[in-house]
Amino acid sequence: MIITKAKPEEELNEMLKPYEKLFVVGCGTCSTSCMTGGEEQVAEMVKKLGDRAIGSAVVEDPCDLRIARKELKEFKAKVQGADAVLVMSCGAGVQTVGDYSKKIVLPALDTLFIGQTERLGKFHDVCKACGECILDETGGVCPVTRCAKGLLNGPCGGQVKGKCEVGKYENDCAWVLIYDRLKEQGRPELFELFRPPRDNSKKVLTQHHVF
Ligand code: SF4
Ligand code: SF4
Repeated sequence: MIITKAKPEEELNEMLKPYEKLFVVGCGTCSTSCMTGGEEQVAEMVKKLGDRAIGSAVVEDPCDLRIARKELKEFKAKVQGADAVLVMSCGAGVQTVGDYSKKIVLPALDTLFIGQTERLGKFHDVCKACGECILDETGGVCPVTRCAKGLLNGPCGGQVKGKCEVGKYENDCAWVLIYDRLKEQGRPELFELFRPPRDNSKKVLTQHHVF
């Protein structure tokens, strides 16, 4: 799930200042679960904007162009009549609404990370979408994200009793977690694999996916 948080009030107000007529779009999936852009938060935003809000819609998946196109169809006149569209979703949703409508789009939220949900409101950063997934070698624990230094070979010398020096030994060392998990799975030899530096050009190559 894509984890988002509401932009600070002051920043949002500053961003909205030039626009008189706004259409608000929410997200029925991730931002609903994050409680940042679901029905409730969209209603609150509309209330806050008062007369400046000329309409709103919660799109099931605003990051899916087909769904955004379909679900926003009935609001077309309002969307086109707005000075800007305020989108309460991750950056992918904001861009998709912009691509569909060609309107000025404003992000109401900051997109934080791809997260694991422990419970509603409690998420863990677990994937940086690096383009070269190695979870098969690391016991399903991502070192790119969960090691504070993003090390592909660990642990580093900052590990003490399974805890990481970054964050004052409050967090588990990802590489100790990886070792424990691999051992538990009966494949500790994978721990000894050397991983060369990443090919960061893959990041660029994954920008446009066609399956
Ligand atoms: S290695 Fe980590 S950051 Fe890269 S794709 Fe896999 S889970 Fe995501
Ligand atoms: S102690 Fe572990 S988690 Fe922390 S930076 Fe070193 S290898 Fe990464």
